[in-house]
Amino acid sequence: MPMPVKNDRAVWFKGGDLTCSIPPGKRVKTTRLVLMGPPGIGKGTQAQLLCKRLGICHLSTGDIFRTASVLKDQASPALQTALHQMHSGELVSDTTVIAIIRERLKCLECEGGFALDGFPRTIVQAEALETLLRDHHVDLTAVINYELPIDQIVARLSGRRVCGHCRAVFHLTQAAPKTPGVCDNCGKPLYQREDDRPESVRVRMRAYEQSTKPLIDYYQQRNLLLSIDADGTPNGICRRTTTALREFTGSATEGSSTANQKTNPR
Ligand code: AMP
Repeated sequence: MPMPVKNDRAVWFKGGDLTCSIPPGKRVKTTRLVLMGPPGIGKGTQAQLLCKRLGICHLSTGDIFRTASVLKDQASPALQTALHQMHSGELVSDTTVIAIIRERLKCLECEGGFALDGFPRTIVQAEALETLLRDHHVDLTAVINYELPIDQIVARLSGRRVCGHCRAVFHLTQAAPKTPGVCDNCGKPLYQREDDRPESVRVRMRAYEQSTKPLIDYYQQRNLLLSIDADGTPNGICRRTTTALREFTGSATEGSSTANQKTNPR
């Protein structure tokens, strides 16, 4: 297993001709993943664990927008447009997101590999990614799709509590604060995000299912889809993912026709 890479993701956050402070090294075989899954499934946590384990870079489009909010004036014109759309509560337009990805081609080509998180979100974005990768002779290793019954996702999200001061995240049953309603880190009150309330979560979930179903079919048709059961502890789910990935890439290189079947080793 390669050593974990700890670069500053300068290219991803700022784009252009920058170089990461510690560019990931050349690999015999580069792992390039797309991570998919509904809100609240723990995709961000899995992205971090997987990247640490596989030594690849976590490339989150949401992170770019959050970082750009701080950069403000230094943000490129494409990013400034995206921030405007994000702040008005919409998904950023395909044109803008694709422009942002184009500015970060170096990350997609990087020999260190990547886990894309939050992109693509639509068929138009997936097609653009496919063209970009094909034009630069880069192959995706797999598209990991995390799955969990909707009731469990609602329970996870509706138990989440966030500190309004230091942003620490707790859970009423899975990661309860020492004193109910109070942040362990800074002692300030915890609150429930508006969009974590069960009614809102169900609406977000329906929207996700409508917009993502086509992407699942899209990647299944390309024999890239690897569905993973997202029940269990973060480390357990990560182990399940890497085991499934090993089996998947093994069967893919052997030309097996079962490469896109569900693989959920527990
Ligand atoms: P995330 O952290 O992935 O949930 O993204 C946070 C916000 O960034 C989203 O609610 C969107 O406004 C925007 N965003 C991130 N990635 C995309 C994308 N691929 N397409 C459209 N909007 C995106």
